[in-house]
Amino acid sequence: MVDDATDPKTDRRTDASGSSRLIVTIDGPAGTGKSSVARVVADRVGLFVLDTGAMYRGVAWLVLKYGIDPGDEREVIATLDAHSIDLDLSHRPVHILVGGVDPGEALRSAAVERIVSTVAALPQVRTRLVEKQREIAERHPRLVTEGRDQGSTVFPDATLRFYLTASAGIRADRRVAQREREGQIVDRQEILASMEARDRLDRSRTDAPLVKPDGAIEIDTDHLSLEDVVDRILDRIRDHGDVS
Ligand code: C5P
Repeated sequence: MVDDATDPKTDRRTDASGSSRLIVTIDGPAGTGKSSVARVVADRVGLFVLDTGAMYRGVAWLVLKYGIDPGDEREVIATLDAHSIDLDLSHRPVHILVGGVDPGEALRSAAVERIVSTVAALPQVRTRLVEKQREIAERHPRLVTEGRDQGSTVFPDATLRFYLTASAGIRADRRVAQREREGQIVDRQEILASMEARDRLDRSRTDAPLVKPDGAIEIDTDHLSLEDVVDRILDRIRDHGDVS
C-alpha cells in the first residue's frame, strides 16, 4: 500500500516515494483506439498503463471456462471470488493472470466478446474490479487507464480525462486491421455487429454505463491518425506540467 499525501507547495497528491499522482483516463466505445493510444502516451511520458477491458475479458473467460450462465450474478461472483485476478503492469501489453492462468489470445476471442458486456453489466462484478483498479492506482499513481467508466466512475478526480469517439464503420475497419495484423481471418460484418451489440449493452446498463464523463476532453478520431490522437493528449498532459 502506498500512502497518499498532499504536497503543500504544489497542492498535488504525492505517493510515498514523493512522485506526484498523475492519473489520465481514456474512455470510449470499442474500436476507438483507446488501448493503442494509451500505450503510446504512457511510453512517451513514462506512465504505467491499465487496460481495464482485459480485466472484464478475464472474468468472461472464466465464465466460459466453467460453463456458467454469464447473466447469473450469484454463480459468476462465486466463481470470481474463488479466483485471483492479477495484473503485471510492467509487461506490455499488460500481463493478466486469472486464477494463476494466463488466458493469452483467448481474451480476444469472439466467444469472450459475445458475453463480456453481459458479465460487465453485473453490479457485483463491477464492484470487485473497480476496487482492484483503485488499488492498482494506489500502487501505480502515475497511470494512464482506459475503459468505459474510468473518468466517470472509477477516477472522477483524475488529473485529465479523455473521451474518444469514431463512427461505427471506421471503428470496424480499425478492428479488422488490428485482428489481421494479429494473423486472424475475420468477417467485417460480424465485427461490426459484435461491436455495436457490445456498445448497446455498455451504454444501457444501469451500473456505470458508457458515457462521456463530465468535463472530459472529447476527441473525434475519425480523421485522425494514432499519432494525431497521441499528440493531442500529450499536449494536454504537458500543459498540466509534471512530465518530462
Ligand atoms: O476495452 P475492451 O473492448 O477490451 O472491453 C471489453 C468489454 O469490457 C467492454 O465491451 C465492456 O463491456 C467491458 N468494460 C467495461 N468497463 C471498462 C472496460 C471494459 O464494462 N472499464
